[in-house]
Amino acid sequence: MHFKSLEFNINQDLLNVSLYNIFYFEIPLEEIRKIDKNFKLKNKNEIIFSKNTDKNSDRKFMFLIEKYMPELKNKITKLKAVYIHQNSGIPLFGLKFIGIIDKGTDMIEIKPLTSCNMNCIFCSVGEGLSSKKQVDFIVEEEYIISELAKLIDYKKKKGNTIPLSIWINPHGEPLLYSRITDLVKDISKLLLIKDVHIITSGVLLNKVMIDELAKIKKVKLNISISSFDSEKAVQLMGTKTYNLANVLNNVKYASEKGIETIITPVYLHGINDKDIEQLIEFCKHNQIPISIQKFCCNMFGRNPIKEEEWDSFMAKLKTWEKKYNISLIGEGEIQSTQELPLMFKKGDVVQAEIISYGRFFKDKIAVAKARCILIPNCRKEKGVIKVKITSAVNGMYIGSA
Ligand code: SF4
Repeated sequence: MHFKSLEFNINQDLLNVSLYNIFYFEIPLEEIRKIDKNFKLKNKNEIIFSKNTDKNSDRKFMFLIEKYMPELKNKITKLKAVYIHQNSGIPLFGLKFIGIIDKGTDMIEIKPLTSCNMNCIFCSVGEGLSSKKQVDFIVEEEYIISELAKLIDYKKKKGNTIPLSIWINPHGEPLLYSRITDLVKDISKLLLIKDVHIITSGVLLNKVMIDELAKIKKVKLNISISSFDSEKAVQLMGTKTYNLANVLNNVKYASEKGIETIITPVYLHGINDKDIEQLIEFCKHNQIPISIQKFCCNMFGRNPIKEEEWDSFMAKLKTWEKKYNISLIGEGEIQSTQELPLMFKKGDVVQAEIISYGRFFKDKIAVAKARCILIPNCRKEKGVIKVKITSAVNGMYIGSA
């Protein structure tokens, strides 16, 4: 049996099963030996049962995978993890932190996993090494593609001909998704796709990955670098493993390989003013576009400073535009496309089935009408419950039980 997203490795009396590289669970070897005591592993992602084993060996092995998958854990954060796949019964629409978000524009957001190897002091979603979250999520690549294709088809049937931009911007680091190149490649083949943006810290980029991505003409990299000084960059990214020189080299390499690469620093008023100016100079010198992001306080994020007013932020951009003779204020125009119909509105009461934890054990995800509903502080653990919808915005639902 050959798997695209699983890798195997024997560790004492356990078969360690790695899913998308950073998630894993274990199966006792004695359980597999009941299927075939002479089974073999090949090329990391193949398990071979002897010819004389009963013909149901594949099915029995799949049964073991299903049995032990609920023990899935994230290798980086050590958190419990949930695998969302075509047969998981968990829809990809309805949640803010995972799946597909369609706000009825020409920009569609894809969130294939939660998890981050950095720990930025300004992280708007509170991800990373010091995250307080208790559960991580990972989505099957094929499931994302088939659901995205259906969404695009829906828009097309409703008369949309506007090209679509896909933004891979998880609550975490997209390059931790081990099948990121498959994902970008498969998205770029879908109808009406104009481009595919990856929003990343750039830490996990390397030449092999850049060479692969460069073959996909529609890919664009948005790399968040917020300081031009190695020590300050480490401080802002919240971990000593951050290697600024390496990230800058990869930015230059990606640009040289023809990937449209843009630097997107987060401006923290009073903390990295000088650094932003140095980044502007670096980008100007290397002819790399730069788009400065305003730091915004977020209830669920890390907030090292008080948020600056928009007027003052825009005035700063104008000053830098003049000083460096560079354009910093984009004129990006967002166009409307047909949004998926809202399944519920605020105040509706629906019957929904609890299907998973949310990011915290106290929260649950329930499903109704092929949509996920996040239920914070839900005491029930399973079953069908009555949910009152408390928020229904852009196809994302929150309810109370
Ligand atoms: S800002 Fe991005 S890179 Fe930094 S911790 Fe958050 S998700 Fe990770």
